[in-house]
Amino acid sequence: MARFPEAENRLFANIWVCMACNARHRMGVGKKPKRCRKCKSTRMRLKNKVKTGA
Ligand SMILES: [Zn+2]
Repeated sequence: MARFPEAENRLFANIWVCMACNARHRMGVGKKPKRCRKCKSTRMRLKNKVKTGA
């Protein structure tokens, strides 16, 4: 499956993943959810596992 860095940036740059329960939260770029809506955890990370560039 082909990779499209621009599309992935658009899709993943604003998605945060709760480190406690792995719930995903879509926010605007540059925003961070204050807390997980599922487990109330404040430990969030950006969903950005794809490594771009070579
Ligand atoms: Zn959570």
